[in-house]
Order: sequence, then C-alpha cells, then structure tokens
Amino acid sequence: MIKENIDRVKQRISSVCSRSNQNPHAITIVAVSKGRDLKEIQEVIESGITDIGENRVQEALIKYSEIRKIQGLFIDNLRWHLVGRLQSNKVKDAVRTFDLIQSVDSVELAGLIDRQAVRINKIQNILLEIKTSPEETKYGFSPKDAISAFKEIINFKNVMIKGVMTIAPLVENPLQARPYFKKLKETLDTINALITINSRLSIISMGMSDDFEVAIEEGSNMVRIGRAIFNS
Ligand SMILES: *Cc1c(COP(=O)(O)O)cnc(C)c1O
Repeated sequence: MIKENIDRVKQRISSVCSRSNQNPHAITIVAVSKGRDLKEIQEVIESGITDIGENRVQEALIKYSEIRKIQGLFIDNLRWHLVGRLQSNKVKDAVRTFDLIQSVDSVELAGLIDRQAVRINKIQNILLEIKTSPEETKYGFSPKDAISAFKEIINFKNVMIKGVMTIAPLVENPLQARPYFKKLKETLDTINALITINSRLSIISMGMSDDFEVAIEEGSNMVRIGRAIFNS
C-alpha cells in the first residue's frame, strides 16, 4: 500500500513537472511519519524514500535509533527532517538527530542550535520557517522579518541556512493555497537577491498531501507528504 502510494505521489509530481516544465528529480519528497510506526517507516525506506520528516523531537529520537537497528535496511543516505516546532529544551537532542531543522522561527532559536552544534562539532542545516498567512496560530518569521533574521543568523558559524519553509493554512480548495506559496517564493528571491550567487539559498519547502501540486507549480523543490503516503 505504502509503495503504491509513493508511486502515485511520484506520478503526480511527474505530471505537474511536465506541465510546468520542471525536472521531477529536483524535487525532494519528505515522508512525514509523525504518529506512524517503525514498520511503516521501514516500508517507506524500502520504497526508495531517503528523507523522513518528524514533528516531535522525542518521537523522532526513538524512531531514529530503532530504525538503525533494523538489519539490512539501507539507511546510509537517510536524512531526518524536523518539521514541527522546536522548543529550546529539545535543541540538544534535535541537533544530535536531524540533518535538516526546517522549523527555525526565531533568531534566539538559531543561536541555541548554533551553541549545541558547536559542542558536537557539527554544521547544522536549517530552514527559516516563514509565516506566509496571517493566521494567529502559526509560527514563523513574517516575510519582512525574515530578511533581518537572515542577516543575523548567517553570523552563526555552525548553523547553515539552506532555504525557507512554510505551512499553508488549511483551505477548502488547494488552489486557494497558491498566494501563500507565491509569498514564500518571493521571500526566498528577496533574500537571494542580497547575497552572492554561490551562497544562494536553494531549498524551498512547501506543499503537503492536499496541495503539493500547486506548491510545485509555484516553485517548491521539497514537498512534505504524510497522508498521501501513509493512509490506505
Ligand atoms: C504533518 C505535516 C506534514 C504532512 O501533512 P499531510 O497533510 O499529512 O501530508 C507536512 N508538514 C508539516 C509541518 C506537518 O506537520
């Protein structure tokens, strides 16, 4: 089932890419496995997915070490993504566990991540989470604040900003999410206009099960998919 779901997601990515003249191989699928068990994650990995997203540090930590124990599972190029909110008391565990922390929503948090990364001699890759909708409940930098935050965070030596991420608000029709995706792309372009070509931010993480096609049309190169992969 999971294998078939992944094939279907890949097909949908291929067709949106051919419609919009993009390379489907440039789009990373992050399988968001919050609440899913080891068996399901194992199946995802065996289906060729290399990027796993989790919402909670504690849950990820357990899965991370359990997945490593499964014999014969090819995990060498597996990457773990934190897509949920990171609390300051979990930063230490997060830095030990994740290849990409997608949910950095304050300069203070980036500073804490830097401090832990220095301790273990790691360069921690992060994304700036951008609040592209006015919803009160969402975290993230406003598109405007993202610029000044970027300028401060690039000074942290052990933190590497790779791009931006947003969570579009829940909408009835996925097409209604388009303005939020456009806003994220604009924010990325604004930041990139400030820096040299070699240091340009490349990752634009947007699009989930219901709206990833629209997100790709708007320039996403990293989609975070939960239900479309795991639901039967
Ligand atoms: C759960 C979650 C996803 C995946 O959502 P689906 O709608 O199940 O595809 C993506 N991003 C974040 C931040 C999430 O929390």
